[in-house]
Amino acid sequence: MERLHKSFGPLEVLKGVNLTAHQGDVVAIIGGSGSGKSTMLRCINFLETPTSGRIIIGGQEVALRPDGQPANRKQIENLRQSLGMVFQQFNLWSHKTVLENLIEVPTQVLKIPKDQAITRARALLDRVGLADKENTYPAFMSGGQQQRAAIARALAINPRAMLFDEPTSALDPELVGEVLGVIRDLATEGRTMILVTHEMKFAREVASHVIYLHNGVIEEEGPPDQLFAAPKSERLQQFLATVG
Ligand code: ADP
Ligand code: MG
Repeated sequence: MERLHKSFGPLEVLKGVNLTAHQGDVVAIIGGSGSGKSTMLRCINFLETPTSGRIIIGGQEVALRPDGQPANRKQIENLRQSLGMVFQQFNLWSHKTVLENLIEVPTQVLKIPKDQAITRARALLDRVGLADKENTYPAFMSGGQQQRAAIARALAINPRAMLFDEPTSALDPELVGEVLGVIRDLATEGRTMILVTHEMKFAREVASHVIYLHNGVIEEEGPPDQLFAAPKSERLQQFLATVG
C-alpha cells in the first residue's frame, strides 16, 4: 500500500499511509478508536475504495480509475479470492451449518469439486478444534467457536494472506485465548497476516512489524520489541499507557 488516502465525504480518514508485507510477515496495526485501522485493512481488499494511492499485491498493481474506483472488476474478484478476511462480528452465514459455511465459496466461486472442498473443510475444522461441530448452526456455538469457524472459512479459500479486524473484540474475556491460540498457530506456520488488534501483548508476541496509526497517519512503526519497549512518539507512549 503506497501513499494511500481515503476520505468519506469531507472526512479524510487515511492521510497517505504505506504498508508493506512480505510473505510470512505478520503486520499488526494498532491505534485508538477511529484512527482508521479498519479502513486501512478494508482498502487492501477493496471493501473500501481508496481515494488515491496504490495497492500492489503479489507484484500486481490494482488498476484504479482517476476517481479511485477499481478499473477492473475481475481483478478485484481475483484479489478477494486470494485474501481471507476475518471480522470482529464473525459474519458466518446463520442459515448454513459450519461445514456449509466452509465449502460455500470454494464450491460456488472457486468451482472446487464438493468432495474435495468437504475434505479440506474437515481438515481445517480439525485444526481449529471444531471437528465435532460441522453440522452445527452458528447460533448454537459460543463466540469463540464461531470466530474459530470464521477463521477456518477464511482459510478454506487457501488465501495468499489473512486479514483480521479485531478478531477478539466481540468475545467474552474467557473466549479470547482460544481464538488468539488459533491465530498464533497460523503465525508460527508462516502465514502472511495483517492484523488489527487491541491485544498489545499478543501483537508484541506474534507480529514481525507493528504500525501505530493515529488520525489516519502512521505515527510510528517498527519491530514489536522496539515499538512496545522503547516507543519514540509521545502519542504512542500515551496510547500504550492507556491500553496497558
Ligand atoms: P478504527 O477501525 O481505527 O476504529 P475506522 O477505520 O473504522 O477506525 O474509522 C475511521 C474514521 O472513519 C471514523 O471517524 C469513522 O467514523 C469513519 N468512517 C469509517 N467508515 C465510514 C463510512 N463508511 N462512512 C463514513 N465515515 C466512516
Ligand atoms: Mg475498527
